[in-house]
Amino acid sequence: MPRTAIAPTFVGEGKIELREHTYRDPGPGELLLAVGANAICGTDREQWFEGSAVVPGHEAAGTVVAAGEGTTVAEGTRGAVFLMDYCGTCRSCRLGYTNQCLAKRNDMGFTADGGYGPYEIVHESNFFAVPDSVTAAEATLLLDVMGTSGHALGRIHRMRDDVESLYVAGAGPIGLGILVMARIRYGADVPVYVSDVSPWRLAFAEELGATPVDATRPVTLTGVDAAIDSTGKQSARQTAVAVLGKRGVLACVGHGEGLTLDVSADLIAPERTVMGSEYFAYAEMAANLELLQAHLPQLSRIITHRLPASELTAAFELFLGGETGKVVVTQDER
Ligand SMILES: [Zn+2]
Ligand SMILES: [Zn+2]
Repeated sequence: MPRTAIAPTFVGEGKIELREHTYRDPGPGELLLAVGANAICGTDREQWFEGSAVVPGHEAAGTVVAAGEGTTVAEGTRGAVFLMDYCGTCRSCRLGYTNQCLAKRNDMGFTADGGYGPYEIVHESNFFAVPDSVTAAEATLLLDVMGTSGHALGRIHRMRDDVESLYVAGAGPIGLGILVMARIRYGADVPVYVSDVSPWRLAFAEELGATPVDATRPVTLTGVDAAIDSTGKQSARQTAVAVLGKRGVLACVGHGEGLTLDVSADLIAPERTVMGSEYFAYAEMAANLELLQAHLPQLSRIITHRLPASELTAAFELFLGGETGKVVVTQDER
């Protein structure tokens, strides 16, 4: 039986209208989730200002309340939703590069209903089950905070396995995720420099173990082994290249502006690598769940605010104010 429920419609210019929304039954291979939590992401900014044809929200976790034909996940199972509804059969998917699927069906929350509404229909293949000891809000950490960050660190590791210093441009939620994941991966002796223009964000990053770098002033660091840009700003990317030493690796995670390289001086002579890193592969979630359980207090500090779905507008305004870590919206009754 299709269900009708009240869901937020993003009409643009920062306005949300609550409208009746019909959720169909899950089809073959699909699950209907009762959403428990959805984390707000900087990427949501566009839908907030421009509006959206679907219910946004791409960092969701929830509970299976109905399962379609051919599925094996039991009703009552809780888990997180992998953004990309990957096909599972193309060359990329067969090799495990599910974030580079060649025949992606949807991006959840962008082209199909996401997690700011009370329900979400997902393919079983992009649902990742978590144990009951992990709350829905904590399960959202497996997505951009841990997943995207861990993937970028993993891509850097492919180029060099002796990283003894890391520079992170931007102390937003992704930058903070990279910081905490790097502390876990490399240990406390490897300095993680985090730059930002916001004093609030720099202070928060420092609390989480960063060596803060004021990006409003010239950055004088040199000889850093690896860097990650989470800002998408050209000036931040140029600085990230400039701080690298020989064999340095830059991973660009933030979408946005460009990067100008002097190929001889910046790349060839010092044998540096500049790479992109997009989201993460579904298969990375299992190892990240182990990390989440082992380091829950440290990781959950990145969530600075939890608001009920009835306060979605206030939650967005708070997040866009720039003085938060991750802001998580929870469904009232769960
Ligand atoms: Zn996100
Ligand atoms: Zn595929």
